[in-house]
Amino acid sequence: MRTAIWFQGCSIRCKGCINPHLFSPRGGTQLPVAGIIDDAVAAGVEGLTLIGGEPFDQPDAGCSLATAARAAGLGVIAFSGYEYEALRERDDSTRAFLAKVDLLVDGPYQDWNPETDRALVGSGNQRFIHLTDRYKDYRPELARNRVDIRVRPDGTIEVAGFLDSAALDDLGRLTSSTRTLRGV
Ligand code: SF4
Repeated sequence: MRTAIWFQGCSIRCKGCINPHLFSPRGGTQLPVAGIIDDAVAAGVEGLTLIGGEPFDQPDAGCSLATAARAAGLGVIAFSGYEYEALRERDDSTRAFLAKVDLLVDGPYQDWNPETDRALVGSGNQRFIHLTDRYKDYRPELARNRVDIRVRPDGTIEVAGFLDSAALDDLGRLTSSTRTLRGV
């Protein structure tokens, strides 16, 4: 159980990114760090997942959030479209942020190189880099690539995860037949 924070803005702009609405640095909702941590602790989650958008385009904010999470006993997983080696060479703010991350999932999304087995990542180049031992037993290749699908009472369908176009077509057929049955 985790709290996920999507950072607004991504300067990388991978072709085929599923979150193009997060490319622009404008938009989003400004939230105080303390409020995020209080909500996460009250919800009883194990940690925060920082995703985007690109968390490392806002290293000071990311560092503040990760530092507060650690102080509250929460683990920190961060996704980045930059590779670890490049982040390490960048600047002090970025290195300070990295120092508060337990597990970094790195690398840009490559739409020509889809991941079909490991959980949480979209393309085969992306790596799980353990910066502490906190998640050392997590094995994405065993979790497989799971998809959560929620159908709301009003018929809205929410999908979290990665579906290829054939699977999306199957989902469309399934949900339209479900709606037909419900209507009967
Ligand atoms: S780094 Fe992530 S959020 Fe940014 S464009 Fe690539 S896939 Fe999208």
